[in-house]
Amino acid sequence: MTFYCANCWAEVMATAQICPRCGDDILARQARADFVEKLISALRHPEPTTPIRAAWILGQRRERRAVPALIQLARESADPFIIEAAVAALARINDPCAEETLRWSATHPTLRVRRAASGPAAEQ
Ligand SMILES: [Zn+2]
Repeated sequence: MTFYCANCWAEVMATAQICPRCGDDILARQARADFVEKLISALRHPEPTTPIRAAWILGQRRERRAVPALIQLARESADPFIIEAAVAALARINDPCAEETLRWSATHPTLRVRRAASGPAAEQ
């Protein structure tokens, strides 16, 4: 499992409290009330690995608040890796609002998107 600093988006150890790259206090940031809002706005970040990482964290946390933004990202992105990340997060959160998008992604031309649509049980 991969973990990320939500300040600079560096990969960090699962046990890291302080980001080795930017020095941010990872646990304190995650505890802040606006953390989920920042993750949701990171879905629109122009550098593609950032929305992918933000979607992953939102999926792990099963953040239902992020469902509309994840649906929009899956539908509007042209990048199959971003669509895959958004769909995987939606499959994990498993909110009824995402059912139609999950059905749509299950017939997506890109295999990795179709695979993400089948949910956490199919990961790896
Ligand atoms: Zn950092």
